[in-house]
Amino acid sequence: MTNQCAIALGSNLGNSLATLEQALKIISQTPGINLVAASSWYLTKPIGPPQPDYLNGCAILAVEPTPEELLVLLQAIELQFGRVRIKESRWGARTLDLDIILYGDLIINNSDLIIPHPRMRERAFVLVPLSEIAEDWQEPVSQKAIAQLVSEIDCSGVTIFQPSELNN
Ligand code: ADP
Ligand code: MG
Repeated sequence: MTNQCAIALGSNLGNSLATLEQALKIISQTPGINLVAASSWYLTKPIGPPQPDYLNGCAILAVEPTPEELLVLLQAIELQFGRVRIKESRWGARTLDLDIILYGDLIINNSDLIIPHPRMRERAFVLVPLSEIAEDWQEPVSQKAIAQLVSEIDCSGVTIFQPSELNN
């Protein structure tokens, strides 16, 4: 049995475009996971400490793994791309960030896993790409569709990525 899941991908260190595309390929080739849809990549202004702009995107997956199993899988892929959590400040620059945004209409509040992602509703860098591929998906906490959530926030820091623009 598979469940529909939305993930967010982000990177602002190294060759971000190559990292995100390779990470998505690895995810979609994982047994028990199928890629349903992928958004465009977006260039986004960072939040948190001063750091380079991010490249962000979202994907819809059909997954057999449970949310907990999926988190372990995604964290292993982050590590594969050289992410070293211990050296990073919270919300600081990173080679690869993989977050679970939605998992069907599940609501989970564990100490190490919160679904829907607790900050998705205020993050334009999540909602703008997600609205491209899942505008009608109802976020179960607010019970609002993604298209509605994105219409309620300032999205000025998020622009579609043109490959010639990336300079970090
Ligand atoms: P952020 O993505 O908010 O910048 P991190 O990637 O450093 O932060 O994640 C910190 C912790 O967030 C992880 O160790 C993980 O256990 C936890 N976490 C809680 N909910 C989620 C989720 N939905 N997706 C990914 N990580 C999550
Ligand atoms: Mg994360």
